[in-house]
Amino acid sequence: MSIIKLITRMWFSSVHCFIVFRALISVTRAGSLLEEKRRIDGRTAFDVAIIGAGYAGLACALVLGRHLVSTVIFDGGKTRNARTKRIHGYLGFENTSPGALLSRGWSDVLQYSSVAVIKDKVTSLQSRNSQFFISSGRRKFSVKFVLIATGVLDIKPKINGFEKFDGDGAWHCPYCDGHEAEGKRLAIIVSGKKPMAYVKEFLGWTMDITVFPSRVRLSSREREQAATLGIRIVDDAITRIAGRTGNFPKKLFGKKDTYAADVIFYRLGYKVQTRLAEQLGCVLKEGYVKVDGHQQTSVEKVFAAGDIDTDRHYAVLAAASGARAAIAMYEGLLSEAVRGKIKRHKSHQD
Ligand SMILES: Cc1cc2nc3c(=O)[nH]c(=O)nc-3n(C[C@H](O)[C@H](O)[C@H](O)COP(=O)(O)OP(=O)(O)OC[C@H]3O[C@@H](n4cnc5c(N)ncnc54)[C@H](O)[C@@H]3O)c2cc1C
Repeated sequence: MSIIKLITRMWFSSVHCFIVFRALISVTRAGSLLEEKRRIDGRTAFDVAIIGAGYAGLACALVLGRHLVSTVIFDGGKTRNARTKRIHGYLGFENTSPGALLSRGWSDVLQYSSVAVIKDKVTSLQSRNSQFFISSGRRKFSVKFVLIATGVLDIKPKINGFEKFDGDGAWHCPYCDGHEAEGKRLAIIVSGKKPMAYVKEFLGWTMDITVFPSRVRLSSREREQAATLGIRIVDDAITRIAGRTGNFPKKLFGKKDTYAADVIFYRLGYKVQTRLAEQLGCVLKEGYVKVDGHQQTSVEKVFAAGDIDTDRHYAVLAAASGARAAIAMYEGLLSEAVRGKIKRHKSHQD
């Protein structure tokens, strides 16, 4: 390399270092390089919108709040587990009610003034020129990044008396509430694909299992396997449930007979809330929003977290994925802001 080339390269790199240095100095001086909430063309503009204030959405809001990112979180109503009495498997909150855990979550988030809350559903989400436009009721917003954390909606059994036991004697998630069945008489109402795989999950807690297939035919192989494992299969439709809540005795009234059980589990499926993600053109995989290791969807600057992107439905996993998305969005915003600052500085110098 010629001496002139070397000197030129050194000069450019020192100018570049100086610009980066100036940019970083101004971060410290101004407090933050990131923009605050502002009004643009009649819309309230934030850097990030979080759609859904469940475990994923709130965890994301907490991390963004601590990073001073101007954030709006849309709270469209109850979380999926709102009816259950106690949450399990969430370190530090074992047996806490979901209401108590979430209100702790809200007070954590609301310590940070860069987070605004809209207590309403998002009805429309569109993108134009690297901006996202959100409608919620009559209000309009524009943002640079979006997290979709709208969760799933469970399909519940249409059985008389079920309401009373929903989340307190009748559950669907073995990893969350399977422990309630320990040594108890368990009745399982199941439909969909691979019903026996779901049923076998409970064998770690109890060997006293009666299965009521619902709108699903079990093959003779599945029936034989069930018999070998001591699992009873009953072809009867349950129409009414009565008895005590929790894991105490209940009566299940079928069309043909009456059955006794302490605990009821059901798996009738759920609807993944992908409508908004699909409006933006996010790719789905097996019905869930497809994301990478940072929760980024197939659409740039659109993230998804929580039950919406996986079949592993657990509150602590949803919260972890929300936090992961927050860090990725912060990094994206900050590098954009640093690049912008350097560019402006350069053009000012030219
Ligand atoms: C009965 C039951 C018991 C459970 N028990 C446990 C347990 O013990 N332990 C455990 O770890 N997990 C448990 N789970 C699973 C747990 O509830 C989920 O994994 C967790 O809620 C997923 O968090 P999320 O943030 O993805 O979704 P959610 O917590 O469901 O939050 C999604 C939020 O988005 C909102 N929303 C939807 N659409 C919109 C919209 N258009 N605009 C604005 N907001 C919107 C919803 O109203 C909701 O508040 C249980 C689930 C059920 C059903």
